[in-house]
Amino acid sequence: EQWQADTQLTLDNVKVAYADSHDAALTIEHLALQGYQKVGIIGRSGSGKSTLLNLLGGFLAPDSNSAQQITLAGQAVDHLQLQAWQKQFQYIPQTPYIFHATLAENVAFYAPEASEAAIIKALAAAGLTEFWQQLPAGLATLIGEGGQAVSGGQAQRIALARAFLTPERRVLLFDEPTAHLDIETEMNIKQAIVPLFANHLVLFATHRLHWVNQMDYVLVVEDGKIVEQGTPSEL
Ligand code: ATP
Ligand code: MG
Repeated sequence: EQWQADTQLTLDNVKVAYADSHDAALTIEHLALQGYQKVGIIGRSGSGKSTLLNLLGGFLAPDSNSAQQITLAGQAVDHLQLQAWQKQFQYIPQTPYIFHATLAENVAFYAPEASEAAIIKALAAAGLTEFWQQLPAGLATLIGEGGQAVSGGQAQRIALARAFLTPERRVLLFDEPTAHLDIETEMNIKQAIVPLFANHLVLFATHRLHWVNQMDYVLVVEDGKIVEQGTPSEL
């Protein structure tokens, strides 16, 4: 079942540690996410923002402990590595992965049935029209390992194009998705990203205040803990 306007995800007493460390990188006493909230995640470098998004994406398993509880749509789950959940979100990591495949295949990774017209539109929304038109074989150009090189900012925009192509995925997990872009490119793409937030649960890690202003809820992460949360005006 897809994420809806009244779906809830709650985490209580959840801890995550990386394999090479016994200290928890993140401890969540209580976090409740609901419906189409727009949640900004802020905090200094190393505070745990990416760890939180990795946990929510099911890429990191929480440490099992007896007090831990995660519920998704009212159902208790051990952790979020559930196929059904992973089909509901678009995750844009800080450094997106580019597959060794054509540009079109990279953009359509989560929507293999997408038409060429839809792919071109998604690339345009991500500010990549000039980029793809200049590639030797256009949309059919091989990129990724061993193919045509793409910069960090181009990789981020390819990841954003994936998100534009699958608006039916109602959860957006965005980890500083514009951090590698110059401010002008960022502002251009922002015009396409903000409308995508409507009818989506948004979790958006950022260091930039202009993104926080688009959010209706903010989590402040410090030293692996959510130290404050509330509406931007409360904080
Ligand atoms: P930034 O703003 O720089 O992206 P962040 O808030 O996203 O920082 P995290 O990447 O979540 O911070 O890191 C939180 C803590 O977990 C840090 O102490 C970091 O060193 C540690 N950490 C992150 N990734 C790993 C990993 N793969 N293995 C071991 N430790 C990690
Ligand atoms: Mg990070």
